[in-house]
Amino acid sequence: LERLPVLRVPEECAYYKEDAGKLLIGAFEPVAKPWGMDGIREDFCFDELPPDLDHFAPILETAVTRMPMLAEAGIHTFFNGPESFTPDDRYYLGEAPELDGYWVAAGYNSIGIVSSGGAGMALARWMDEGAPPFDLWEVDIRRAQPFQRNRTYLRARVSETLGLLYADHFPNRQPLSARGVRRSPLHGHLAAMGAAFGETAGWERPHWFAGPGVTPAYGHGWGRQHWFANTAAEHRALRTGVGLLDLSSFGKIRVEGRDATGFLQRLCGNDVDVAPGRIVYTQMLNHRGGIESDLTVTRLGETAFLLVVPAATLRRDLAWLDRHRGDAAVTITDMTAAEAVIAVMGPGARALLAAVSPDDLSDAAHPFATAREIELGLGLARAHRISYVGELGWELYVSTDQAAHLFETIAEAGAAHGLLPCGMLAMDSCRLEKAFRHFGHDITDEDHVLEAGLGFAVRTGKGDFIGREAVLRTREAGVTRRLLQFRLTDPEPLLHHNEPVRRDGRIVGLITSGAYGHTL
Ligand SMILES: Cc1cc2nc3c(=O)[nH]c(=O)nc-3n(C[C@H](O)[C@H](O)[C@H](O)COP(=O)(O)OP(=O)(O)OC[C@H]3O[C@@H](n4cnc5c(N)ncnc54)[C@H](O)[C@@H]3O)c2cc1C
Repeated sequence: LERLPVLRVPEECAYYKEDAGKLLIGAFEPVAKPWGMDGIREDFCFDELPPDLDHFAPILETAVTRMPMLAEAGIHTFFNGPESFTPDDRYYLGEAPELDGYWVAAGYNSIGIVSSGGAGMALARWMDEGAPPFDLWEVDIRRAQPFQRNRTYLRARVSETLGLLYADHFPNRQPLSARGVRRSPLHGHLAAMGAAFGETAGWERPHWFAGPGVTPAYGHGWGRQHWFANTAAEHRALRTGVGLLDLSSFGKIRVEGRDATGFLQRLCGNDVDVAPGRIVYTQMLNHRGGIESDLTVTRLGETAFLLVVPAATLRRDLAWLDRHRGDAAVTITDMTAAEAVIAVMGPGARALLAAVSPDDLSDAAHPFATAREIELGLGLARAHRISYVGELGWELYVSTDQAAHLFETIAEAGAAHGLLPCGMLAMDSCRLEKAFRHFGHDITDEDHVLEAGLGFAVRTGKGDFIGREAVLRTREAGVTRRLLQFRLTDPEPLLHHNEPVRRDGRIVGLITSGAYGHTL
C-alpha cells in the first residue's frame, strides 16, 4: 500500500492515497453540503459531523468500479468534517480593505496545509515590508466584493465551488450557481440579442453573442470552441466596421476636492494636471516601480477627476487610494453604479454617432483622449474618445436612467451601419492585437512599469510621485526582463495564460495572455 501513488480522478471527484497503513478516499462532490450558516460553536476545531453515507454513496459507487477491492474492504473510519470554501475557490490573503491593520489568511478551500508554508511566508513579509513580496492578486482579499457577504449567495455558490476544485479549469469556464447579482441596465437588451454572459466581480457581462433570439450555450473545452466564429465576426466588426460593447462594469471612482490634483499627481506615474476634458492613461505605482493599478484619469473640472479602472480591481484601487489619502482634502466616491458605459468602436463609429447626435465629433472638435458632453437621442452622454480595442471610437458614459434610451437609439440607427453587438472576448482579442496591457495578466504589482513597456505613460519630470525613484533607477540600469508581443506562425494552437516560452530548448518566459488575432 505504501507504494501506491496518490491517485486523483477529477471526473469522479475523488482522490486515493495511503494514510497510516490504510487507504484513504476523499472527494469533492459537485454539489456540496453547506454547513454553519447559523454560526459555528466557539470550541469547534477539526471536529466531526454526523456521518452522511447517502451523500457520499455516489462517490463510493464509482470508487468501487475504479478499485474493485473496495467492495470487500469495509470502512474503518468515515470522517465527515467541514472545510471553508470561498466563492472562487481561492483563499483570502492580505489586509482587509475596510480595516487598517486587520490581516486575513483564511478560506483555504481544502488546500490549507499544502499552501501554509508559502502563504505564511508571503503574509509575514507583506505585514513586515508593507507590500506583498510578489504578485498575489489571485488570492488577494481586495478582490472580494461586498455583496459576497450575503449568506444566501454564499450558500449557493460555495456548494458549487467545492466541486470545482476538482473539475477541469477550462478557459472561460463560468460558474453556474448564484448568478445575476450585478447587472448593467442594458442586461435585458443584451440578453435579447443572444448574449452569452460571463461573470466578473459579480457582474454579468456579454462574452459573445449568439444572435437575436438565439439562446447561447456556452460550453467548455480545451480546444477551439463553437463561439470562435461569433467572436471572429465581432472582432472584425470592431476593426473594420462598427461594434457596440457594454462596458458598464468599469469601476468609476470620482476623486474631488481642493487637494485632488496634488493627491493624484502623487499617486499616478503620468501627468494628470491637464486641462479639464483631457483623458490621461496612467498607472499607479508602488515604491518598487511595480504596477498597482492601470487606469485612465479624466479631468472633469478644476478639482474633480474620474478614474476608470477594470471591474475586477475596483475594491483594490479604492483601498489603494484610501490608504494613501493621508490628510489630503479629497473625497473618493465609488460612482460605478451611477453611470452605464456604451462603447461604440470601429472605423464606422463616427458616422453612426453622427446619425444620433448633432455634436461635432470630428478630430478637430473632439480629439483623441478628450471627453465632453454630447446630446444623443433625447438624452445626454459624456463621450470619452478613448479605446481599449485600438480603433476610432467613443465610450459613452451615461446616467443609468438614460442608458436604455441611448442604447435603443444607437441600436436602431446602427442597423443601417452594420452595427454588431460585441462581447468581452472580442474586446480581448482586439486589445491583444494592439498589445494593450491587462492588469492581473500582463501587468501586476511585481512588474516594473518599464519592464511592462509602459514607460511612455510615466513623466518623471513632473515632480515627485510614488515609484519615481524606482523608475529613475531602472532607467539608469536598464531592464533585465521585458514584456513582448509574439505572433505564432501556426494559427491552430490556442494560448491563454502561463504557457512557457522556450528559446533554444530553455524556458525563458511565460505567456501573460493570448488570443486569436483575427485581423493581424
Ligand atoms: C478532513 C480534512 C482533510 C484535509 N486534507 C487536506 C490536505 O490533504 N491537504 C491540504 O492542503 N489541506 C487539507 N485540509 C484543509 C486544511 O486542513 C485547512 O485548509 C487548513 O487547516 C486551514 O487552515 P487555517 O489556519 O485557515 O484554519 P484552521 O487550521 O482551522 O486554524 C484555525 C485555528 O484558529 C483557532 N481558533 C478558532 N477560533 C479562535 C478564537 N476565537 N480564538 C483563538 N483561536 C481560535 C482554532 O482552534 C484553530 O486552531 C483538510 C481538512 C480536513 C477537514
